[in-house]
Amino acid sequence: MKKFSRQRQAILECLKNTNCHPSAGWLYDNVRKEIPNISLGTVYRNLAELSQSGDILSFTPGDGTERFDGNTKPHYHFYCSSCRSVIDVDIPTIEDLDRKAAETLGCEISYHNLIFYGICRNCRESQ
Ligand SMILES: [Zn+2]
Ligand SMILES: [Zn+2]
Repeated sequence: MKKFSRQRQAILECLKNTNCHPSAGWLYDNVRKEIPNISLGTVYRNLAELSQSGDILSFTPGDGTERFDGNTKPHYHFYCSSCRSVIDVDIPTIEDLDRKAAETLGCEISYHNLIFYGICRNCRESQ
């Protein structure tokens, strides 16, 4: 177990306790309930360092927002272009893809990131 500062620990726990793939702003609003004097800049800095160290994932679905994920196991995502929610896709990741890309490029592949786009069930049902 790594030892983090209280602020970093609070951000990490908040992220581990949700599966909504929040933005930094959402995390800021929630972590502030526990640590009222935390600044948005501190949240951004900690998120950047946590994702650099591999303790969290970060990605952008292409809508200009950066999303964070406390689940660092390889998995795929779905992005709803109507409500902009990001959902985990519970299917096995394609291990073969890394090998094929590595062969084609002559590069070493660390991982791949896959996002499906469409309209989520909630939005379809309320249409
Ligand atoms: Zn939706
Ligand atoms: Zn996820």
